[in-house]
Amino acid sequence: MNLVLLGKPGAGKGYISTYLEEKYGFKHMSTGDICRKNIKKRTENGILAEEYCKTGQLVPLNIILQMLKQEIEQDKNDNVSYIFDGFPRNVAQAKELEKITTIDAVILIDVPNETILKRISNRRICPKCSKMYNTIEAPNGKCLTCGTELTTRADDNLDVAQKRLDIYEKETKPLIDFYKNQLLIVDNSGNIDKTLNELNSKIERMLKKTGEKI
Ligand code: AMP
Repeated sequence: MNLVLLGKPGAGKGYISTYLEEKYGFKHMSTGDICRKNIKKRTENGILAEEYCKTGQLVPLNIILQMLKQEIEQDKNDNVSYIFDGFPRNVAQAKELEKITTIDAVILIDVPNETILKRISNRRICPKCSKMYNTIEAPNGKCLTCGTELTTRADDNLDVAQKRLDIYEKETKPLIDFYKNQLLIVDNSGNIDKTLNELNSKIERMLKKTGEKI
């Protein structure tokens, strides 16, 4: 079974995907991570995507799709259940995803804009292992996994964050209607443990109802 995580940039999709990956055995498929990996490796698509990522714009459909398909191709012999994080970002991408695989449920991580802007300015990333933290989780500015000095993501400044929120409103929000028959809404504006409890009970209810296995 495959899930899509929808939500504004900074809503906590990455953290929640990692949690679901560990708890249920999904594979986290983040197109943001895929872009950053390709940019770092200086692949042809990474070089083409770089300016869009830096400025918070959507990478053109053919480029993002090619990079995503390359990743999925590597799993073709395994029976993988994905959590798509950051893809689709608009209806055109959702229609492309339908051609690649089936989506069983869509989880919307709901957070108000003021909280998003605060979170984004406190967000840090490990340049070595790509783990993300906030300044409270990693108060000494070092990665808790590998000890590398944390940096700020190139697109995590307030101007770019606001632009990404505007793009979310215009491009991504229509997906709530597109996926209305498979949507689970989870509030992540407060305590993360409360969010995860709500998420688990919604996922477990869905698994019971559909009889699906991960
Ligand atoms: P994220 O880590 O999901 O916030 O994504 C970081 C950046 O990668 C975005 O601001 C876009 O420039 C690019 N990106 C990630 N996913 C997509 C996508 N599905 N379509 C187009 N661009 C994307």
